[in-house]
Amino acid sequence: MRSVHNALDQLLLPAECLLCRALLSFRDCHRVVCDVCRHRWRPVRAPWCGRCAQPEPLFGRCRLCADWPAALVRARTAVWLDAGARDAVHALKYGGLPRIAADLASAMVSLDLPGREAAWLVPVPLGPGRLRERGYNQSERLARALSRRWNRPVVELLVRTRDTVTQTALTPEARLANVAGAFALRIGDCGLRSDGGKFKSTIRNPQSAIERPLVLVDDVLTTGATLAEAARALERAGARTVLAVTFGRAVVPDFT
Ligand SMILES: [Zn+2]
Ligand SMILES: [Zn+2]
Repeated sequence: MRSVHNALDQLLLPAECLLCRALLSFRDCHRVVCDVCRHRWRPVRAPWCGRCAQPEPLFGRCRLCADWPAALVRARTAVWLDAGARDAVHALKYGGLPRIAADLASAMVSLDLPGREAAWLVPVPLGPGRLRERGYNQSERLARALSRRWNRPVVELLVRTRDTVTQTALTPEARLANVAGAFALRIGDCGLRSDGGKFKSTIRNPQSAIERPLVLVDDVLTTGATLAEAARALERAGARTVLAVTFGRAVVPDFT
């Protein structure tokens, strides 16, 4: 039923860019955001911390990733979350526009992740309440869009054991407490598949997935507390190499 809705959506919506309202060319009519707006998104670039890609601090070592679990070896983000990029994430999360995930994923395709060729993609899960409310998990949609570009399978290895409050207004310390212990390994059907059709099997033994390099996929990284906690759950289950990608990176608010 949902796919019928999406198809109708696509037919009924005028083919114009969500952000600037310019008409989309015929070639781009499946997109939500036009080329010009996508090129305005500001890439996150070096010099940065090699592990978490945060701009290097002026003094000392990076504090953002200092307490991350050892298995989380690298996180990369496509763009800074300013104006247009923020609106695009908003449309994905709150605007009921999951198909915008393809536009966001196209900004993430060239992120440098060693070992990606053998990795499986793991979306950061939503809590049950949030999932009901939204009808879909935006990180899962992003992971599926990336899966088509990278030809790697998506495996929903994690569940969120409780609904956590929105992190936006929380201090870095409160964010850590908010997500502590919020993730667990999903037991049973992990829904391993990619939309390319090559990985249509279902894995019933999450342990076989844990041994591979895993790539956590989320929409936004701010302090990294959520990714670190998700990686911790994978590490506890035996994962040795966890990578992470997000579309947007928010500037960490200054709570000092
Ligand atoms: Zn535009
Ligand atoms: Zn770092």
